[in-house]
Amino acid sequence: MLTLENTLIRQGEFSLTADFSIQPGMRVAVIGPSGAGKSTLLNLLAGFLDPETGRVLNQGQDMTRAAPGERPLAMLFQDNNLFPHLTVAQNVGLGIRPDLRLDATQASRVEAALKRVGLEGYGPRKPAALSGGQQSRVALARVLVQDKPWVLLDEPFAALGPALKVEMLDLVAEVLDETGAGLLMVSHDPQDARRIAPHTVLVADGVAYAPTATRDLLDNPPPALRTYLG
Ligand code: ADP
Ligand code: MG
Repeated sequence: MLTLENTLIRQGEFSLTADFSIQPGMRVAVIGPSGAGKSTLLNLLAGFLDPETGRVLNQGQDMTRAAPGERPLAMLFQDNNLFPHLTVAQNVGLGIRPDLRLDATQASRVEAALKRVGLEGYGPRKPAALSGGQQSRVALARVLVQDKPWVLLDEPFAALGPALKVEMLDLVAEVLDETGAGLLMVSHDPQDARRIAPHTVLVADGVAYAPTATRDLLDNPPPALRTYLG
């Protein structure tokens, strides 16, 4: 279980509060207006930002001051965050060891992850030699090798176009079925939430609200969400 306990986070004039838990294996969409604090929420959980007050807990254990690498989550960034000078295999290997000194077992984990995302044999290539969809798969493979109980996606696959995006979301769902990991996914597309996340956290007006059933929320949106959905 991940818990945000009375957390308050500030960035300049902006502030965001959160006070809720999410259960292991839950798939949660994070939606709300641009600038509402969706990325801030993920960065707080991942340890890239510190709360001013409150605590972040994993299974009841305080991890408010834990470094990102010590937390039970793997994050996939919007731009995939691939290093152009490294090979595909090295980009994935970074998820295991930042210094890339992988032993044989670790190297075979990289190969297995590439195979799982449909990129068997692509290890020696450079990211520039891959399509956008394939680059997203590399980034997903790097999340997989980290073998964490939570996957965080910040507006993933938005650059891919609708058909490829749906393909990637379905691949993410399949992988989560296999690993049992939970998901927090920021999206500006309510259909993404309906497709992959039974629960949704609404971020609006300085608050990240406790997760509610995605269908109920989208079928019967509160005012803050109605304005945003248009
Ligand atoms: P979202 O992901 O929902 O679009 P963000 O979490 O990126 O929103 O940003 C939330 C708010 O925090 C924004 O209104 C933005 O202006 C502000 N913000 C983000 N980063 C900084 C920063 N480094 N310094 C000051 N304000 C920031
Ligand atoms: Mg954002």
